[in-house]
Amino acid sequence: MARKMDRISQPAEPSGSPFIGGNTEFTVPGRFRNLFPIGIGAQGAVCGAIDFDTGMPIAIKKLSRPFQDVTNAKRAYREIKLMRLVDHPFVIKLLYAYSPQTTLQSFRDIYLFTERMDANLSNVIGNQLDHERLSFLVYQMLCGIKYLHSAGIIHRDLKPTNIVVRADCSLKILDFGLARSVQNSFMMTQYVVTRYYRAPEVIVNMDYDTRVDIWAIGCIMAELITGRVLFPGTDYMDQWNRIITTLGMPSSDFISRTTLSTQGYIKKTLPGNSRVQFEQLFPDSAFLIIEGSNNAELNNDNARSILQRMLEIDPLERISVEDALAHPYISLWCNDDEVNRPAPVPYDHSLDQQELTIEQWKELLFQEIRDIQSETLGTTDAGN
Ligand code: AMP
Repeated sequence: MARKMDRISQPAEPSGSPFIGGNTEFTVPGRFRNLFPIGIGAQGAVCGAIDFDTGMPIAIKKLSRPFQDVTNAKRAYREIKLMRLVDHPFVIKLLYAYSPQTTLQSFRDIYLFTERMDANLSNVIGNQLDHERLSFLVYQMLCGIKYLHSAGIIHRDLKPTNIVVRADCSLKILDFGLARSVQNSFMMTQYVVTRYYRAPEVIVNMDYDTRVDIWAIGCIMAELITGRVLFPGTDYMDQWNRIITTLGMPSSDFISRTTLSTQGYIKKTLPGNSRVQFEQLFPDSAFLIIEGSNNAELNNDNARSILQRMLEIDPLERISVEDALAHPYISLWCNDDEVNRPAPVPYDHSLDQQELTIEQWKELLFQEIRDIQSETLGTTDAGN
């Protein structure tokens, strides 16, 4: 799989001094060197670096303004807690966290250190993938998401830029900032999920569960095949309209589970019973076939079949993660340690419900960073 990300030249700054990456100043311990910018996310800038103690390529995310408001602070705290909890080959794990400020009063910046991958999945979209690569990528997403679900975590914001890959096709899921506990699903609000990958039940404001992540994986798989966003809605109505225009009328059972006002809207806009055939959406010409591939299950029909099952409008009809992993297009990759890895210590659901002030979140974050620094870097001081 070819990399599309351009590397820029390495900074000349000596180790330990600030590095400006993407207009953001990075001040990190001296063992992390050769910094260069690799991306910008919702929470801040990300740089690549080398850990000179271990020789390992590292990604460093600087959270921008973590204490600007309660939402940012809570999100930062949740993300750090979740990233410390997880231990799965297809889910990003926190290696270190660091702040150059050593007192609560001066505490301002948070840096998160993870294993560095080569690119995010959006850099891969547009390169035609053969079935082996495509099914392996989908397998890893399913496995990683199954593991998160086993910890009571729904990701809710899976999208190509939240998934990082290596040239060898290995993959890790990033960003748990929006993940909330499964138990609180009734409290979830709809605005948080990136629109293109948003499941129909979220769009029409129904209760939702882990299957929102399966929908997102279906949308991502479709995009990997065609090189185009499957449902590029311009607003949430348009998102809904695009889904039903393509996939047809949802069942009356699904409609009856929505609110009365939604039912009224759906009935007004229903496009009839038409449904674009999957053979038309994903024609044989969209797939890259490599001669001599020796797995008969890796074929266009099986690719369309799992896509169709992941893109069921009704979450009750949508394929479960277990069944998706058992699907012939995917099951060849199944490895017990990856599929059935024991769930991590369950995420503490009460964290999501805490109503704290910014100052209280700041204190919790400060303590968390100090704990991690002393556990992993063996120091709580800046610039070492
Ligand atoms: P994030 O803020 O975590 O969403 O990251 C923003 C972007 O930085 C991602 O879309 C990736 O392109 C890049 N990135 C973040 N973490 C990593 C990593 N561990 N390895 C490689 N690239 C990363």
